[in-house]
Amino acid sequence: MPSNGARLHIAIQKSGRLSRYSRELLREAGLRIQSGKNDLTARVDNFPIDLMLVRDDDIPTFVADGVCEFGIVGRNVLEEFALGRKEERFDVIAPLGFGHCALKLAAPRGADYDGAQCLAGQRIATSYPRLLGAWLERQGIEARVVRMSGAVELAPRLGIAGFVCDLVSTGSTLEANNLAPVETVLESEAVLVRTRMPIDEAKQRAADNLLKRIDGVLATQGSKYIMMNAPEDALAEITAILPGVEAPSVIPLAGRPGHFALHAVCQETVFWETLHDLKQAGASAILVLPIEKMMQ
Ligand code: ATP
Ligand code: ZN
Repeated sequence: MPSNGARLHIAIQKSGRLSRYSRELLREAGLRIQSGKNDLTARVDNFPIDLMLVRDDDIPTFVADGVCEFGIVGRNVLEEFALGRKEERFDVIAPLGFGHCALKLAAPRGADYDGAQCLAGQRIATSYPRLLGAWLERQGIEARVVRMSGAVELAPRLGIAGFVCDLVSTGSTLEANNLAPVETVLESEAVLVRTRMPIDEAKQRAADNLLKRIDGVLATQGSKYIMMNAPEDALAEITAILPGVEAPSVIPLAGRPGHFALHAVCQETVFWETLHDLKQAGASAILVLPIEKMMQ
């Protein structure tokens, strides 16, 4: 049995948008994660690995300081952290294909916005002051950055700021607050990061093994054949959700007028979150199959 000191630590989000997909990725890589009694860690019983279950904001610090050798965190959180440190103490190993979102500047709907110069002298509310500050500097614009830790989208209504800079995936939160995106500050997804602090030999072996397995998972997440059933009025939305698909085959279902089978080759990764979105859009009986050979 390796001693406790030889166990590798991977920091993942305890609960939130990335936690389920982070665990899923590690499970697909073959890690058997025990559901722990303890809230802060989860033991992997077939590898010398412990998961640290923390707030996403703490993950960059843990990895930079070497408390955890690896971490899974949004690029947005990582880059905001890195801008506050003089020295980079971690390396991004791979984008993981989930947790997609973008840090966007948004203006009240109906406001005249015709380019970044409209932001000069304005107040902009955000939880990402460094990323926003760096973006404004690149644009050569001086604006007042108002730091908020949450509920940023309420700032214009409360009179705290004229603009907001916040994470957006579907845009529905902005829309619900009568805001419209005007600029993209950063495109983000979850990434695997590794500390630059030295890793001892025993841990290095576990790390090499882990990385090989994660590579394997990411590689087989390439093209997939996807099939599902859907009512006619959901076909357009479903086609828009399917990654890397332009024209799926749509086949009438015998005895079910208005219902179709939809088949397509996805050139990009199909993640659990994609399946969830498809289901929300009205798809049922969704099957994702590996493709053995393909010739265009
Ligand atoms: P924690 O309690 O861990 O601090 P949090 O509330 O800061 O959680 P979540 O809302 O769970 O964070 O988001 C975690 C990450 O998910 C974000 O940093 C971002 O990388 C990603 N993400 C994907 N889509 C969105 C979205 N629409 N809004 C916010 N974050 C998103
Ligand atoms: Zn957070």
